[in-house]
Amino acid sequence: METKKEALAKIKTSKKNLLLKIADLEEEDNVKKYLELNKLLADTNRAYDELLYACKLEEYASCKHLSVSFEDDYDYYEGRHHYRYGCLKCGLNTYLLDGDFISSIEEKANNDYIKKHCKFGFPGVNNTKLYIDTYENFERARVLYSSFRRRNKGVSDKIIIEMVSEALDNETKKAKEKLKNKNI
Ligand SMILES: [Zn+2]
Repeated sequence: METKKEALAKIKTSKKNLLLKIADLEEEDNVKKYLELNKLLADTNRAYDELLYACKLEEYASCKHLSVSFEDDYDYYEGRHHYRYGCLKCGLNTYLLDGDFISSIEEKANNDYIKKHCKFGFPGVNNTKLYIDTYENFERARVLYSSFRRRNKGVSDKIIIEMVSEALDNETKKAKEKLKNKNI
């Protein structure tokens, strides 16, 4: 029977052979081109991410925030509300800060901006009195806001907010009814 040491020596030789074959292949023109393109793609991706990050920061800085509160995480022990805040226009929000890890450039830009510029409170919080229950509905409210805004150019933000609030209520009611009918 083959000992562990013999098996190890065998695998070591296989590894060496494979590396030699790969090194040979890397000398071929097509493979050289492939590796070069991959490097170029990685550089381009990096440049894209850096620019996207800078664009998001610029967007947050230039936005006249229209902020709402959402996702009330009521602390029964301390007896106080812990709201998340977000802007309906640019999407800047404090909810993403609670995440365990950052999954996108937009999320990183969001969190970096908040840590640096919103130490003394979220901007534009008193603009609206609208409270939204979940993060998903905050995202939905953003879609509704931009759609109503586009179709009602001269209308004040106050009216648009009322329209968003009403549309969200109707959608929630409809979803509940649908669920009720399904369960009957
Ligand atoms: Zn904003």
